[in-house]
Amino acid sequence: MVKAQYEGYSADVPVKYLREQFGNTNVYAQNAKSLLTKATGFISAYDFTLNPYRGCQYGCSYCYAAAFSPNSKMRQDWGGWVIFKQNAAEVLEKELNQWAKTHPDQPPRIYMSSVTDPYQPLESQQQLTRSLLEVMLRYRPILVIQTRSPIITRDIDYLQRFKHLRINMSIPTGSESVRKDFEPRSPSIQARLNAVAKIRQGIDSSKGFIPKLSITITPLLPTLPKDETAFIDKLALCDRIVIQDFHISSNRSLMAGTRQEAEAIKQKYAWWYEQPSYERFKQKLITQLPNIEIKEGKEGFGYE
Ligand code: SF4
Repeated sequence: MVKAQYEGYSADVPVKYLREQFGNTNVYAQNAKSLLTKATGFISAYDFTLNPYRGCQYGCSYCYAAAFSPNSKMRQDWGGWVIFKQNAAEVLEKELNQWAKTHPDQPPRIYMSSVTDPYQPLESQQQLTRSLLEVMLRYRPILVIQTRSPIITRDIDYLQRFKHLRINMSIPTGSESVRKDFEPRSPSIQARLNAVAKIRQGIDSSKGFIPKLSITITPLLPTLPKDETAFIDKLALCDRIVIQDFHISSNRSLMAGTRQEAEAIKQKYAWWYEQPSYERFKQKLITQLPNIEIKEGKEGFGYE
């Protein structure tokens, strides 16, 4: 067993054990008291958020979720640790069972996930998100899955069986060099586009419902002029595109905002941020993709 890297981080919930290292990530295992959290703010259209993990290996420079780290050291090391909720399937089953008893005619509206990626690399080993899909299938929720990971294609067999599912694939830029600056640990842009194509092709329409597919360009990062037209063409794979600007910066603990790390990287792209690039890019999406729904911010994150 490896010594814990972040002593005293779990004041409320005891750490069962430090499971292991996965790549460069310190992986912890905990029993969660609950899985479903009342959805508020940006995703208040849902009943619950569902986060199988706490922390995220992708460690994107702009991630607002870092603000909800257990302590300041872990906030600084966002991307370097993950807490695996080892009893997640069992707890979710109880919670959904309770919901079904009190809301027999109302499927729960669930947003997975708001502060982690349910298909981060560890999922390929742990299959925790897969186990939660298996539970959810019994309760027929209205489900939105938010990810930037091609690992989601592993679960096409389950995704096929949901009757109300939207998949949001996050692709904030069309330029690999920009992606590497802002989110160097994340999958390539092409891998994400391939994943969306694979879901579209892999789902058998004769078996029932086909998931709705969004590409979320949130936050909108710069795309180099040489890549822009080709990138937008490739987005024709989905039925909705969501764009949004950066969250307001914040250094305060428990205040969700763009991290300073991203603010520093933005300086490198002053040519983009000094122009009204957001509005220009939005207009280009509308012109180039007339048959695709273009939505902004909160409105784009709804299921419908
Ligand atoms: S993948 Fe999502 S949750 Fe994970 S670090 Fe990036 S923005 Fe945050």
